[in-house]
Amino acid sequence: MDRQQEFVLRTIEERDIRFVRLWFTDVLGTLKSVAVAPAELEGAFAEGIGFDGSAIEGFARVYEADMLAKPDPATFQVLPWRGDNPGTARMFCDITLPDGSPSHADPRHVLQRALARAADLGFTFYTHPEIEFYLLKAGFKPGENPEPIDQAGYFDHVPHGTGHDFRRAAITMLESMGISVEFSHHEGGPGQNEIDLRYADALSTADNIMTFRTVIKEVALEQGIFASFMPKPFAEHPGSGMHTHMSLFDGDSNAFYEAGAPYQLSKVGRQFIAGLLRHGAEITAVTNQWVNSYKRLWGGGEAPAHLTWGHNNRSAMVRVPMYKPTKGQSSRVEVRTLDAACNPYLAFALMLSAGLKGIEEDYELPAETEDDVWGLTSAERQAMGIEPLPTSLYEAIRVMEKSELVADTLGEHVFDFFLRNKRAEWDDYRGEITRFELERYLPGL
Ligand code: GLN
Ligand code: MG
Ligand code: MG
Ligand code: MG
Repeated sequence: MDRQQEFVLRTIEERDIRFVRLWFTDVLGTLKSVAVAPAELEGAFAEGIGFDGSAIEGFARVYEADMLAKPDPATFQVLPWRGDNPGTARMFCDITLPDGSPSHADPRHVLQRALARAADLGFTFYTHPEIEFYLLKAGFKPGENPEPIDQAGYFDHVPHGTGHDFRRAAITMLESMGISVEFSHHEGGPGQNEIDLRYADALSTADNIMTFRTVIKEVALEQGIFASFMPKPFAEHPGSGMHTHMSLFDGDSNAFYEAGAPYQLSKVGRQFIAGLLRHGAEITAVTNQWVNSYKRLWGGGEAPAHLTWGHNNRSAMVRVPMYKPTKGQSSRVEVRTLDAACNPYLAFALMLSAGLKGIEEDYELPAETEDDVWGLTSAERQAMGIEPLPTSLYEAIRVMEKSELVADTLGEHVFDFFLRNKRAEWDDYRGEITRFELERYLPGL
């Protein structure tokens, strides 16, 4: 046993932990959990805990159903909402096949593979997400409109508001689990909030996002309300995104930083953005994976809809923020497409691969767009070479199907499963007769 594993076992004894939850994520980004007794952990570290992979979305065809979950001791955390006596803890797992080789269906492994490729090129990938979500009154019934908990807007201070108490409770809980929060505020929609996590290596960030979603839902339930990361719950209010700031480090130095360059953005930084834009359409089915995701992208509210970049341009897919005149090591690019209902492991792996491709193939960065792309006519956009993001899940699937970059990064198994699953979702949606159609067509046709 190594030192980290010993540390986990000692902590479990000292803090009287009776249940350890082993966490992993299915291909669509749903958290899975199996609780084990502390006595099982030595075996779990050595060999993993067996489970039936065929029961997990996207994991296995029936003939390779036996899988093992092997906890990563670096991710050990006590779960504060479960109380102290006795306590409960969790670890994220790597999924392996019975022969010990990594499962190709494991999203965490997909990201680890992409990170290893970055490491071969000398880079570490850092990310920090701005996560938006709605707080709603409990008791939502299908067929009715959800009801936000307040009527406040962007940066509003709501004295004694539920949102305020909520953010304080949620942030305290996140911090107690080792997840640092940088900013939090009320967002543009009623009941909409944003919490930004401090930057960390991409694997830790993806693990933190999975934990974050659980913590936010738990704290909401405790307060008698309901939290949702659905990308666009209200037609008339902004959607919820997960803008993600990204940078590559070469040892201790930020590879996107170059003193004196425009926006202090190095050649590597420019190539990275060029890669994101050129492959942006191919990876959208993963960064925005639901039918509803496209209602956000095309519903205004400062969501991006075009494959462009800019410095102050909130309608662009990529933005180069410059909050401080001398940013130095904090140089980064902000990708605004992602929503918080994506699988963060797969989304980060694809963003990274697209950016690395730009570096390896020395892509040229197109000119930035300073105009609000929404304000241009489509003829003007065409003349400027501005391409739209996919407008629906169907379009996104069609572009992804042809993408070598996505197939290589996800691996054949995840690529095939994902496409199959998303085609089925589109078919279900296409089969619906919506409220829009009934109201628009029934009276007059
Ligand atoms: N809610 C917007 C989105 O969906 C972002 C708003 C903002 O943070 N400026 O992307
Ligand atoms: Mg923000
Ligand atoms: Mg925001
Ligand atoms: Mg932002």
